[in-house]
Amino acid sequence: MDTAVKRLAVLGSTGSIGRQTLDIVRTLPEHFRVVALAAGSNTSLLLEQIKEFGPGHYYSSSEKKLDAGDCKFMSLEEMAACADADIVVIATSGTSGLEAVLAAARAGKRIALANKESLVAAGEIITAEVKAHNAEILPVDSEHSAVWQCLNGETSRPRRIILTASGGPFLDYTQAQLEAVTVEQALAHPSWQMGKKVTIDSATLMNKGLEVIEAHWLFDIPVADITVLVHPGSIVHSMVEFADGSVKAQMGRPDMRLPIQYALTYPERIANPGFSFIDWHGLSMLSFEPPDMERFHCLRLAIDAAEEGGTSPAVLCAADEAAVELFIAERIKFIDIPRLVETVLDEHVSNLRPDIEDIIAAGTWARDTLFALAGGSD
Ligand code: MG
Repeated sequence: MDTAVKRLAVLGSTGSIGRQTLDIVRTLPEHFRVVALAAGSNTSLLLEQIKEFGPGHYYSSSEKKLDAGDCKFMSLEEMAACADADIVVIATSGTSGLEAVLAAARAGKRIALANKESLVAAGEIITAEVKAHNAEILPVDSEHSAVWQCLNGETSRPRRIILTASGGPFLDYTQAQLEAVTVEQALAHPSWQMGKKVTIDSATLMNKGLEVIEAHWLFDIPVADITVLVHPGSIVHSMVEFADGSVKAQMGRPDMRLPIQYALTYPERIANPGFSFIDWHGLSMLSFEPPDMERFHCLRLAIDAAEEGGTSPAVLCAADEAAVELFIAERIKFIDIPRLVETVLDEHVSNLRPDIEDIIAAGTWARDTLFALAGGSD
């Protein structure tokens, strides 16, 4: 049994996944050691984390010079490839994670990947680099962790993957009610504690669309063989159906720390005193229904962008990120998110064989175009 302490580099340490990763380290200090931490603008929390976990290196996007004692500054790309780390946790939000993921892949790292946008935008390039350099991507997203857990030990290709969606807070809203949705309502997710971007994406179902594309690259399965089902209970985190009709589901309480910890301890499972178990007596039934792609048009847009391929998924991702920022800033309405993203996608001519520069450029174009359509700049 592998009892060695695992050394972690945590990129995005002050975000929701980063904080929950450090919570696992705090609870299980005999299993993990933090060697590097990277954060965006939340310098005060980063400094607290440096003090608590004592990493050798840090990265901060806001200020290069932090008063961090013996902890030295390191660039994000260096940190992603850092020789001291056994596992690089990539939990940055949005498309900013792309270069770090590529650097980690090229360094042959074991990557615990929470950043779905990088795979959505550049899945073909990332998976090729992972293969070429013997790197590994271990999914942290709960649905993909579920699929991964269902596939472990299987040698046959699955017939299809069934991704479950909670449906978000507006599952039963009419089109008229969706018109009036506020930022506060959209940020109140019924079952999951997550960052702002993914919470809004869950409310529009864009998150599930991005996850379809993420699953396509992670498990090398055609988009047409990925089914989305709305499952408001958030107990079944996803399923895999095999050729013989057998279906495997992974279940658990909706707690992101479970998929995070599984990626960190894989292939082992260890007890965490902070986790709770499913209350089978309190669970009356598990329900599943197909998603309404008319009311939740973002899911349709994502599937179409995935089928189109090339730079379209990168455009989808960047346009959505810009639209979500504008919605959180109360500059556009909730229902403007799919409308604006669709317009940007319609204006885009997909480059079907893009390199990484083409992908980044397509994202920048999409962002600028969306801001211009919304009537202003960022
Ligand atoms: Mg998810």
